[in-house]
Amino acid sequence: MASLFVELKAPNGRTYTQPTGLFINNEFVAAKSGQKITSIDPATEAEIASVHAAGAEDVDLAVQAARRALKDPSWKKMSPTDRGNLMIKLSDLMEQNKELLATIDTWDNGKPYSAALADDLPEAIGTIRFYGGYADKVYGQTINTTHAKFAYTVRQPIGVVGQIIPWNYPLSMAAWKLGPALACGNTVVIKAAEQTPLSILVLGTLIKEAGFPPGVVNIINGYGKDAGKAIASHPDIDKVAFTGSTGTAREIMKMAAVNLKNITLETGGKSPLLVFDDADLEQAVKWSHYGIMSNQGQICTATSRILVQETIYETFVKQFKDALSSISKVGDPFAEDTFQGPQVTKAQYERILSYAKIGVAEGATLAAGGKPFNGPGGKGFYIEPTIFTDVRKEMAIYREEVFGPFVVILPFKTEEEAIEMANDSQFGLGAAVFTTNLERSHRVARDIESGMVWINSSQDCDFRIPFGGVKQSGIGRELGEAGLEAYSQIKAVHINMGSRL
Ligand code: NAD
Repeated sequence: MASLFVELKAPNGRTYTQPTGLFINNEFVAAKSGQKITSIDPATEAEIASVHAAGAEDVDLAVQAARRALKDPSWKKMSPTDRGNLMIKLSDLMEQNKELLATIDTWDNGKPYSAALADDLPEAIGTIRFYGGYADKVYGQTINTTHAKFAYTVRQPIGVVGQIIPWNYPLSMAAWKLGPALACGNTVVIKAAEQTPLSILVLGTLIKEAGFPPGVVNIINGYGKDAGKAIASHPDIDKVAFTGSTGTAREIMKMAAVNLKNITLETGGKSPLLVFDDADLEQAVKWSHYGIMSNQGQICTATSRILVQETIYETFVKQFKDALSSISKVGDPFAEDTFQGPQVTKAQYERILSYAKIGVAEGATLAAGGKPFNGPGGKGFYIEPTIFTDVRKEMAIYREEVFGPFVVILPFKTEEEAIEMANDSQFGLGAAVFTTNLERSHRVARDIESGMVWINSSQDCDFRIPFGGVKQSGIGRELGEAGLEAYSQIKAVHINMGSRL
């Protein structure tokens, strides 16, 4: 049998052992499906490595392992404090390996190494540590009723949890899902996205090293149509948590109906960013640029619709374009001064370029970009940061999620109109408001239909603060204390204190 590990050397010279199997029961095993996923370096279009891809039979084995672990005293009876300490140990191991993990995600995903190391890894490590601290603080209540009755509630794990994650933040997305699930005592089958299969397998080695009992965390790679579907429709999975596109979320919701799975969905967005004429313009330009161009625009909360009060519209557009040349350095993701690397895959690259064509065909003005960027060595899925103006509300580029460095900038007249435009969307994930008027900031925050509002910033998420959407941007919340709700269920215990009946 071929080895389940391969020695790799990343473009920054770092060498390491990459597991390639499925991580089930704390062991790397070959997939029975016989399927493989080949990871491509989006900066060079060269193959990095092939890993095993799970089919339905493999998913079933992972679920069986998770079910056994759920009943095993080594997990079921572990004190919540010990459980939390295990998680904190895992976060420490992640910290010790953060340069390696950041290297792998940069290589596999195309994101700048500086961002992977400074943003993704601290977020992933912090999330696991934060929820490690919560493990022994997941309490019930005692409830007053009558003298003849005492009642209390306990918060218990949901059971075996299936988690399906996307490729834009491979490790953070894994941590957002694993943290609260483990803190609440569940066991997990987690599937990485087929575009970024590598770093999560290294995380598997750290989970074993931290001392988690076998079967508590099972990690699989696999295609959505095979492994993803098998998770969503598996009759012995109690909950499915998903982050990805709204279309896939709809499919998952249907499949999850098979056994009435508990579901959490975090999907797409077309998040508005409002700039009022009393805003600090320099700050507004800086944050709005970051809000759509960071992570190559591949962020579900990316503020991709910028709405600017008409009195400052021309000035804002000019300064935003100037920011592209001064901040948006596109290039080799391992270069220190790179702000924007390649898009994750050829499919995403082509999708974004197709939206640029659509925008032009719809009659909008292409104010910048809209074409490939000639990357180092003439290879790679690089795109020039793209701005459209003269956009109308019925245009596809205004309404649909592009998921790239692609923004539309429109003017508005009044606060009322700004709110109406902001809410004119099937989505409701994030929103940002730039103003120095305190009353207006809170008023607008209240009226915007979204799960999150940033005032005078964009994308500054925090693992201590709930994250999630309204409308077609999702169901449920991740992160913060609210994230525990998604992974625990309340049991009520009624005690007859007298001799009623
Ligand atoms: P996707 O929704 O197809 O994939 C996300 C995850 O779901 C992956 O792990 C995938 O394997 C899995 N999946 C796919 N089809 C499935 C199915 N039928 N059943 C179960 N699991 C399935 O997203 P994508 O194809 O990677 O990207 C397409 C678009 O989705 C993007 O252009 C973007 O608009 C959006 N997206 C959003 C996020 C986000 O964070 N909200 C992340 C990635 C992509």
